[in-house]
Amino acid sequence: MTNAPIPFIDLGAQRARIGAAIDAGLLRVAHHGQYILGPEVKTLEADLAAFCGAKDCVTVSNGTVALAMPLMAKGIRPGDAVFCPSFTFAATAEVVAWLGATPVFVDVLPDTFNMDPASLEQAIVKAKAQGLKPKCVISVDLFGQAADYDAIEPIVAAHGLWLMSDAAQSFGGAYKARKVGTIGHVTATSFFPSKPLGCYGDGGAIFTDDPEMAAIMRSLRVHGQGSDKYDNVRIGLNGRLDTLQAAVLIEKLKILGDEVATRDDVAKRYSEALCDNVPVPVLLPELVSAWAQYTVQVPASARAAIIQAMKADGIPTMVYYPKPLHLQTAYKHFPLAGNGLPVSERLAQEVLSLPMHPYLDHATQDRVVETFKRALKAHA
Ligand SMILES: *Cc1c(COP(=O)(O)O)cnc(C)c1O
Repeated sequence: MTNAPIPFIDLGAQRARIGAAIDAGLLRVAHHGQYILGPEVKTLEADLAAFCGAKDCVTVSNGTVALAMPLMAKGIRPGDAVFCPSFTFAATAEVVAWLGATPVFVDVLPDTFNMDPASLEQAIVKAKAQGLKPKCVISVDLFGQAADYDAIEPIVAAHGLWLMSDAAQSFGGAYKARKVGTIGHVTATSFFPSKPLGCYGDGGAIFTDDPEMAAIMRSLRVHGQGSDKYDNVRIGLNGRLDTLQAAVLIEKLKILGDEVATRDDVAKRYSEALCDNVPVPVLLPELVSAWAQYTVQVPASARAAIIQAMKADGIPTMVYYPKPLHLQTAYKHFPLAGNGLPVSERLAQEVLSLPMHPYLDHATQDRVVETFKRALKAHA
C-alpha cells in the first residue's frame, strides 16, 4: 500500500469542479472595481437567506465578528452572563469577554459533542448565585451537527434568555424540519476556507428573522453608521465581507447541498467501517449534519502514538480540541456549570478527527480506515 500523503481537506478537488466559474466571478469583480459592498455582496446575502429560509442575512468579515455583532446589537455588557460550551473553538467565548460580559461554561454530551441541557440549567443557577444577569445562550453545532434545540429552547425561554446559534461548522445542515440559519434568535456562521462553506480567505454571515436586529447589524458593520457613512449613531466596527469573497461564495453555495449529501455518504461509510472498533459520532434522528469534521474517540493513552503512526503512513488527523476553554490560561477564571466539566475534559483527551471532505474517494477512504485500524491495534 502507498504511503503518499493525502490532504486532510482537499480544496483542490473542489477547484477542479467549479474553479473556472469561481475565477470568472473573481475577474468580474476585478473589472467592475466595487471591492467594498459591491453587487455580489447583496446577491450572496439574498442567496444565503433563500438557501436556509431565513428572512435576512448580513454578511461579515469573519465568523468571530458574526458572533460578536449580535451581542453588540443586544447591548451585552459587564455583569451579563452568556452561556456557552467549553468544548469549542475559542471564538465562541472570546466575543463575550470582548464586551466585558462573563462567559459561563457548560458541559457537552459525550455522544454528540454538543451542549448538555442539564449542564446549562446548572450553569444558570451558578451565574445567578454569583450575582450575574443571565442573558444569552450560545449553542454550538460542533463538527457540523446541530445542537439539540428541542431540549435547549425551553430552557432559554423559561429563563427569559435569547439564543444565538454558533453555526460556524454546521451551515448546510438541518435540525429536523429547520435548516441551520433559521434556529435561535440569530445564527452566526463562518466562511473560513476549511468550513463546509468556505471562501478564499476570511468571511462570515449572520442570519435573523428580526428586521430590527438586521438593521442594527448592518449599521454596526460600517462603524455604527446612521443615515450616511459620516453619520455615526452607535459604536460599531469594520465588519464587512469583501466583494471578492462574496463572488467565491456565490459559486460555492450552488453546490453546497450536493456537497453536504456527499459528506454524509463519506461519514456513513466511515461509521460502518469503524463502529465496532471505536465510538463513532452519533447523529440524532432527523438531523442533517454538515460534517465539518468526522470525529472518533480513542483511548487517551494511545492517541499520540496513533496520530504518529498514521502520519508516517501519509494520513493526516487533527485534534479538535486538545484543551477545553475552561482550562485555558485566558479563560480559566470564568465560572462553570456545577463542579467541573468532566465530559469536555475527557473528550479533549480522546477525540481524533479523520480526513473529511466531499471528494474523498472510496479507495482513499479505505486507506484511511485500514491505516487507522492498524494504528489502533498496535497502540491501544
Ligand atoms: C471557525 C469557528 C469560529 C470562528 O470563525 P472565524 O471565521 O475563524 O472567525 C467560531 N466558532 C466555531 C465553533 C468555529 O469552528
